[in-house]
Amino acid sequence: MTNVQSLWFDPSTCLIGGQWIPAASGETLSLVNPSDGNDICQIARGGQTDIDAAVQAADKALNGDWGRMTALERGRILTKIGQLVLERVDDLAALEAMDVGKPLTQARADAVALARYMEFYGGAADKVHGETIPYLDGYTVYTLREPHGVTGHIVPWNYPMQIIGRSVGAALAMGNAAVLKPAEEACLTALAFAHIAQEAGLPAGALNIVPGLGAEAGAALSSHPGIHHISFTGSVATGALVQQAAGKNVVPVTLELGGKSPQLVFDDADLDASLPFLVNAGIQNAGQTCSASSRILVQRGVYDEIVTRMSTAYGELTVGAATEDLRLGPLISTRQKDIVESFLAKGSDLTMAAQGKIVDGTPKEGAYVRPTLFADVPADHPLARDEIFGPVQVIIPFDTEEEAVEIANSTDYGLVASVWSRDGARQMRLAKKLRAGQVFLNNYGAGGGVELPFGGVGKSGHGREKGFEALYGFSQLKTVAAHHG
Ligand code: NAD
Repeated sequence: MTNVQSLWFDPSTCLIGGQWIPAASGETLSLVNPSDGNDICQIARGGQTDIDAAVQAADKALNGDWGRMTALERGRILTKIGQLVLERVDDLAALEAMDVGKPLTQARADAVALARYMEFYGGAADKVHGETIPYLDGYTVYTLREPHGVTGHIVPWNYPMQIIGRSVGAALAMGNAAVLKPAEEACLTALAFAHIAQEAGLPAGALNIVPGLGAEAGAALSSHPGIHHISFTGSVATGALVQQAAGKNVVPVTLELGGKSPQLVFDDADLDASLPFLVNAGIQNAGQTCSASSRILVQRGVYDEIVTRMSTAYGELTVGAATEDLRLGPLISTRQKDIVESFLAKGSDLTMAAQGKIVDGTPKEGAYVRPTLFADVPADHPLARDEIFGPVQVIIPFDTEEEAVEIANSTDYGLVASVWSRDGARQMRLAKKLRAGQVFLNNYGAGGGVELPFGGVGKSGHGREKGFEALYGFSQLKTVAAHHG
């Protein structure tokens, strides 16, 4: 067993209707610390019965204290959750580092982001208005923004706190009651968050949590007839299954899937400014980021210089246990490590430009891989087209702006793209031409602000979370037409 002192709650239960209870089957699953391969603790193995109970509890909350609350009251509770999260940033970061293998600095940043989501959606809860619509003589027409009802949230293991913040936060702000299925690989901060939410006064049933396997608890949630909206973040294959299952009940779905996001570096770019972004956007969270920039497209005039400078940066990258707080921690699991290593094997025909190092003394049982940079990669190579979800970047040369756009838009994905150039007209042209849900000009990610709507096109998914936009997604519009003569 790994150190579990930082657990201040029983991790082996589900939260249903305000009560922490074991899965109906009594079964549990092991959570593994990817830094050393040791078991951390047991979590509940929820299934159909638990999901049924959670959906019922959410429905009851909508017809009870939670459903009767004003937007202002909901907002105050969310804001209070944000304050309590901020007070426990170190505790939450310790849990996330142990569970996900995240270096502590990143884990802390995720906890701060969770607090920020609660503050943002707490403040926004009473600021979503309907409209009045000028219509025929004798009519007054207006719109109401109403909650969907019971919302399902299926989240992955890579950024549990941020993804719970953006999806559950927005859903609760709009008055929905949520059922959350965290990932089986990492769910401690989801459980901790729910304890904090209770402490902040969130009424019973407004948030329910059922940990468990995707094929069991996840499938039961996505196909449940009592769910009115589903937010899914994860892989393309699972997203398609969730959409199919929800489709049978004609339930709307937001899909946040993967990416193969490019950064385009032109000859006139400020290279000093670009370099930290070029590397960090690829290796942050050991590359297990949906918006990771795994493709670096570089114009010929600065190509050699970028390859040299990125290679030097890679040579300085260090990998070790999450608590060592180096640039990279382990991957989430040895399974994920095998996937990344199989991609590295597919790159045996490529030019490997540089690799980072795993520091001495790192536990052999951990899921570590060396960050790897490939240069001169053909745009149609599997490493340049498929999502790897590990710390692997490819550099692809190009000659013209048209060619750069063609390569950038040539994958199935379209999540994020960035342009590095001092030419303002080019920036504007490419912002329109690049196929992506977010385009960054002379930066990448803009610090990940909770205010910025986020989501993909193509196989990166559909629907938008984050920012104000999410509040529209987590509500539905009712039109009221009054005839008064
Ligand atoms: P995954 O799809 O296997 O799992 C995601 C979640 O879905 C987990 O909670 C899992 O238990 C659940 N799940 C699995 N099978 C299910 C089923 N049949 N029915 C319902 N739920 C099921 O993905 P993963 O391996 O956890 O995450 C990696 C992938 O997620 C990558 O492709 C990555 O790009 C993507 N991702 C996207 C974003 C984004 O915001 N766009 C964020 C994080 C991860």
